[in-house]
Amino acid sequence: MTQTHDVVIIGGGVAGLSAGLYTVRAKLDTLLIERTVMGGQIINSEAIENYPGFPHGVNGVELVAAIEEQASKFGLQYGFGEVTALDVSKRPFVIRTEEEEHRARSVIIAAGGDHVKLGVPGEQEYEAKGVSYCATCDGNFFTGQEVVVVGGGDSAVEEAVYLTRMCTKVTVVHRRDQLRAAKILQERAFANPKVEFVWNTVVEEIQGNGSVSGVALRNLKTEEKRRLPATGVFVYVGFNPNSRPFQGVVPMDAGGHIKVDLMMHTEIPGVFAVGDIRWKSTKQLANAAGDGVTAALAAYEYLEQNR
Ligand SMILES: Cc1cc2nc3c(=O)[nH]c(=O)nc-3n(C[C@H](O)[C@H](O)[C@H](O)COP(=O)(O)OP(=O)(O)OC[C@H]3O[C@@H](n4cnc5c(N)ncnc54)[C@H](O)[C@@H]3O)c2cc1C
Repeated sequence: MTQTHDVVIIGGGVAGLSAGLYTVRAKLDTLLIERTVMGGQIINSEAIENYPGFPHGVNGVELVAAIEEQASKFGLQYGFGEVTALDVSKRPFVIRTEEEEHRARSVIIAAGGDHVKLGVPGEQEYEAKGVSYCATCDGNFFTGQEVVVVGGGDSAVEEAVYLTRMCTKVTVVHRRDQLRAAKILQERAFANPKVEFVWNTVVEEIQGNGSVSGVALRNLKTEEKRRLPATGVFVYVGFNPNSRPFQGVVPMDAGGHIKVDLMMHTEIPGVFAVGDIRWKSTKQLANAAGDGVTAALAAYEYLEQNR
């Protein structure tokens, strides 16, 4: 058993690193534990155009390296390993990885998540070359073009309508004959002349030549196959928060996102959750950074009051 840290942060994406920057600057002894490489989901992104302060855009590696360097400069400590359990029945809390145990007076969960993939040929090949999981992030790259949205839930329908602001046509491909999205979102989409729906249909392949040029579709009722030209494919078939180690420890919504209040506090005093893993997150980098800052300041306040 090692020393007791003031703060242990689980996850080294933008949310975790931002939290770490603030806790170490408040002179809190902080260990950040990451299971793979620092940076999280954004690490493979070539062009981020909506993170404030970069008028010419920035790529994921550069952005993460800069935040990591900044946090390291003030003394953030790093540990590597997958956190498998968090024990809040004891104080200090115990954080377990496969090989180690750490103790902390407060914990910030910043373990993010992953977009569910379609798992069809071409999806991986054309990621960031026309395949996207975030219209808010990438929609602007498709200005004046025709795109496909895959899915039928709230995110798919909301983002399809968002894409009509820049795209000439948005075709929503859905495997069922009706949407799962909230009625108000459905009404908005049905009323938008730029949105078309293809029902009972799945994408079997994403095609292209260097970048996306179209999708191969199959109608599940008629077995009819056809090709739909498009330069962008936005996939909205789900998001998996990396919250399994925390199930039964902190309350979550039905999708496995951790419930927090406005200060990122979970129901357990001293345990916070930030970024894409928390409920109602906008799943944007600036939001992840902001959450990290909020939780760090809240953790500082909590530790001051519970010396
Ligand atoms: C391809 C792509 C492009 C995007 N483009 C943009 C964009 O242009 N603009 C924008 O604002 N947003 C963009 N986003 C969204 C943005 O990347 C996320 O909102 C942001 O990364 C969330 O940060 P996070 O720190 O909460 O989580 P993550 O980035 O998911 O980081 C979580 C980290 O925790 C680690 N981890 C998970 N579980 C454990 C565990 N048990 N133990 C230890 N470590 C663990 C993971 O390995 C990961 O490093 C994009 C996302 C993708 C996938």
